[in-house]
Amino acid sequence: MRTRKVASAEAQNGSSDGKPDRVVICGGGIIGASAAFYLSQLGVKSLILEKCAIACASSGKAGGFLALDWQDGQATGPLSRRSFELHAELAKSLGQNCGYRRVSTLALSVDSSGRAAAKQKKGLPEWLDGSISGAREMGNESTNAQVHPELLTKALIAAAQAEVRQATVQGVVLDGNKAVTGVKVDGGEEECDTIVIAMGPWTGQARAWLPGIPSISGQKAHSIVVEPSSPIGANCLFMNHRNKSGEHKDPELYARPDGTAYICGEGESVPVPDDPLSIVSTSAAAASLQEAGAAVSSLLADGKVIKQQACYLPLSPDGVPVIGKVPGATGAFIATGHSCWGILNGPATGEALAELIVQGRTRHVSLDAFDPARFSGRKFALR
Ligand SMILES: Cc1cc2nc3c(=O)[nH]c(=O)nc-3n(C[C@H](O)[C@H](O)[C@H](O)COP(=O)(O)OP(=O)(O)OC[C@H]3O[C@@H](n4cnc5c(N)ncnc54)[C@H](O)[C@@H]3O)c2cc1C
Repeated sequence: MRTRKVASAEAQNGSSDGKPDRVVICGGGIIGASAAFYLSQLGVKSLILEKCAIACASSGKAGGFLALDWQDGQATGPLSRRSFELHAELAKSLGQNCGYRRVSTLALSVDSSGRAAAKQKKGLPEWLDGSISGAREMGNESTNAQVHPELLTKALIAAAQAEVRQATVQGVVLDGNKAVTGVKVDGGEEECDTIVIAMGPWTGQARAWLPGIPSISGQKAHSIVVEPSSPIGANCLFMNHRNKSGEHKDPELYARPDGTAYICGEGESVPVPDDPLSIVSTSAAAASLQEAGAAVSSLLADGKVIKQQACYLPLSPDGVPVIGKVPGATGAFIATGHSCWGILNGPATGEALAELIVQGRTRHVSLDAFDPARFSGRKFALR
């Protein structure tokens, strides 16, 4: 059996300067991919065990909007500032087009209810010719960007040269000192001395394996991808939309470099199903998003919906990501709960986790605010 290469008692507690012998990453979303990539930058190759397919869940269905400073003043502020920087670096260093570009972002008031005389605002990009009654800049090319989440997730794994296997992780094997010695997969066992649990909204399932893991939930959200009738500009839109029925909705629309428009925003309270591939959108949600697109631009009204999908935001009990060592087990790490900012915060999460695993401490971003141990002893940690 392979063991962790450790030189001291301190190293046994996870603050090692020795590299782990074998890292298994559970989950092939943006967080698992980022961990694999930054581990490889520190000379550690990993095995990714993914239940369905790489980026099959929210990391393949997200918008990919990135903002430098929108989380300033929150626990995630330094993480997202570092990650914004890393995204720009990755766009150059990965050598693959992952749809990264800088964008300008607008908040729009849109009214297609017919109950207000909505006039187009002067100074808006030409393609925004719909029922827009108000507009405000939220960010520009110096602070806002976008990336294609699925392409980035796959490119990170390719660059990491990580081994990928389709398998469902069903448990963790610990020795008598509560140190990780393997994971249980599809009826067998895979030896390792380090595991990273990055199973998005399914991470809560790992509480049955490691009690130090908090309960993680998921919030379903729908999205569509529209092919416009003519090219549209490089804008991201955050809308306050009064629709034909007079209801207020808050959809988001991201024009993509491949010429399509991604529109999301319809939330739904449905429990996370066990099978990621069974997550589908409803026609009502898709129609609502399509109406929002048509309301801002005739090019989208005349366009074609080419994708209709849904996925789950991973949520921690306090809304703050959970990143770090799992209390009560040596060699077990967790990274999840990134809610609506997992694509943005993925790279800095992976970088910090890799530093923690390999070097025993982080160099760029402190993980103190994300410490999984903060839930220990609280009542929601025991639910
Ligand atoms: C509609 C929508 C739009 C979004 N837009 C943005 C955006 O514009 N910008 C942004 O920064 N973020 C955005 N997000 C958030 C972002 O998508 C998520 O925070 C992020 O994708 C979470 O990544 P993850 O790797 O933690 O989880 P996931 O992508 O859910 O990946 C988890 C993986 O674990 C696998 N898995 C589960 N159980 C097991 C098991 N037992 N064994 C092995 N594998 C397992 C699953 O199959 C899955 O592939 C959006 C989210 C949604 C829903």
